[in-house]
Amino acid sequence: MVRELTHFIGGQQVPGTSGRFGDVYDPNLGQVQARVPLASTSEVEQVIANAEAAQPAWAAMNPQRRARILMKFLTLVNDEMDSLAALLSSEHGKTIPDAKGDIQRGLEVIEFAVGIPHLLKGEYTESAGTGIDVYSMRQPLGVVAGITPFNFPAMIPLWKAGPALACGNAFVLKPSERDPSVPLRLAELFLEAGLPEGVFNVVNGDKEAVDTILHDPRIKAVGFVGSTPIAQYIYETATANGKRAQCFGGAKNHAIVMPDADLDDVADQLIGAGYGSAGERCMAISVAVPVGEDTANRLVEKLTDRVHKLNVGKSDDPGADYGPLVGLDGVDRVKKYVQQGIDEGAELVVDGRGLTVEGAENGYFVGATLFDRVTKNMSIYTDEIFGPVLSVVRAEDYEEALALANDHEYGNGVAIFTRDGDAARNFAARVQVGMVGINVPIPVPIAYYTFGGWKRSGFGDLNQHGPDSIRFYTKTKTVTQRWPAGLKESNSFVIPTME
Ligand code: NAD
Repeated sequence: MVRELTHFIGGQQVPGTSGRFGDVYDPNLGQVQARVPLASTSEVEQVIANAEAAQPAWAAMNPQRRARILMKFLTLVNDEMDSLAALLSSEHGKTIPDAKGDIQRGLEVIEFAVGIPHLLKGEYTESAGTGIDVYSMRQPLGVVAGITPFNFPAMIPLWKAGPALACGNAFVLKPSERDPSVPLRLAELFLEAGLPEGVFNVVNGDKEAVDTILHDPRIKAVGFVGSTPIAQYIYETATANGKRAQCFGGAKNHAIVMPDADLDDVADQLIGAGYGSAGERCMAISVAVPVGEDTANRLVEKLTDRVHKLNVGKSDDPGADYGPLVGLDGVDRVKKYVQQGIDEGAELVVDGRGLTVEGAENGYFVGATLFDRVTKNMSIYTDEIFGPVLSVVRAEDYEEALALANDHEYGNGVAIFTRDGDAARNFAARVQVGMVGINVPIPVPIAYYTFGGWKRSGFGDLNQHGPDSIRFYTKTKTVTQRWPAGLKESNSFVIPTME
C-alpha cells in the first residue's frame, strides 16, 4: 500500500486536490513508498490566504510568549527524535545517526530563535536633537516562504522557519517533494507546541507551486536552498517581483592539505566529509588538494586504504557508514560523471560503481569512488557531482592550492589542514569562500553565527541564521519623536537637522 501524503494548511492535514502527485521513494529498496500531492496555483493561493489571516495576531503576541512556544517545540521534537530520524532516513537514505544530526542542527537554530526578545531590541538615542529622541524597531514582514532541498529535510526548513516565526511572520514552507514527511510532522509539532493555526503551513509541490509563491504579492520574502540554476532563477524572479530573497546554491568544497598536516588525521576527516551522507551535502568535501608530490602520494595511499574499508549499507543498518542516494537520477548522474572523469584522463583509484548491497539489490547505492590527478578543466572538477566521489587535485605549492579554491565558480565551504598558524591565518584572510574550516573539514557555523556561501553558491546579501536572519525577516522602522515641550517653537520651513 502506498501512503498518500497531504499538505498542512491552517493547522490541518489537507489532501491535495490538483490531481497531480509525485512519488516518494524508499531509496534503500528502490520502491515507491508514498505519493505526495503537487499543489496547483489555487491551492497555494489558499495557503497564502490562510497564513495572511493568521499573521497579525501572531505578530501581536509578545516575543517572550512566541519564544515559549518555540521552547515547547524543542521539547516535543527532542521527545520524538528517534521516530523522526527513522522517518527522515527512510525517505532520504542517510543513516539514523546522520538523520539525528540533521534534526539537531535544525533545533540549534530554534534554540537561537528562542532569544528573540533580545534579538528584536531596537536602538534608542535620547536627545538626538534638542527635545528629539530617535529610536528604531524591527517589525515582521508578514507572510514569508521557504523553498527547501531534499538533502536536509529537517535542518533547512527549521533554519528558515525558526527565525521567521520568532520575528512574528507567518510561514509557507514548500519542502522538497522527494522527502516531505518530516516537514509535515514538524508542522504538527509546531501546532502542538502552541503555534496558532495558519502560522506555519506546508504546501507540497513542484515548479507550479514555487512559481505561485514567487508571483504572489502577499509573500514578502523568499528563502531558498537548492541547486545553483534554481537558486538564481528564484532570486531573480522573487526580487523582480519586489520580494526579499536569499537563495543558496550548489558547491564544490576544497580541502587544502599542507605538507605539515597530520595525514592520518586528515585522511580520517576527509573520508567522513567526502562520503558521509553519500556526499549529498552542500558542505561535503569533494576536492582534496594536497600540496607537494610527497604529501599527495602519502595522502592518496591513506585515503585509498580507508575508502576500501567503508561500509555502505541500508540507512537503518547500524554498521553502515553511509546509505543510498535519494534517487535513481542521482545514481545515474554520479555514474555519468565517473565515466567522464575516466574519459578526460583522471586516474580512477577506487571505482564504486559496481556496488550492490545484499538484501537491497534495487537500492540506490553507489560505492565510494576516489580519483587522483584530477585537473581544473575536467567536468568532475568543475561540476557539483553530489555523490560519494572525492577528487584529488595535486598542487605544487600553497599559492596554487589557494588559487584553485579562489578561481572555482562555487564558494560555499573550504578547509585547510596545517600545523602552521601563519599559513592558516593567511588562508582565512585571502580565500574567496563564505565558510572556512581550519583543521575542520565541514565548517558549518554554529546557529548564532551565519551560514552562507559566496560566488555562485549564494544569491542575496544576508546569510541564514544568526543575526542576519533577524535582519532578513524584519523591516526596520526608525522613529524620530518630539514631545509637546519641543513644539513651542514656531514652524520651520528649513529641512530638520540635529544641530
Ligand atoms: P533542487 O534545486 O533540485 O530543488 C530545491 C527546491 O527547488 C525543491 O523544493 C524543488 O521542488 C524546487 N525546484 C526544483 N526545480 C525547480 C524549478 N525548475 N522551478 C522552481 N522550483 C524548483 O535541489 P535538490 O536536489 O533538492 O538539493 C540539492 C542541491 O541543493 C545541491 O546543489 C546542493 O549543493 C544544494 N544545497 C545547498 C545548500 C547551501 O546551503 N548552499 C544546502 C543544501 C543543499
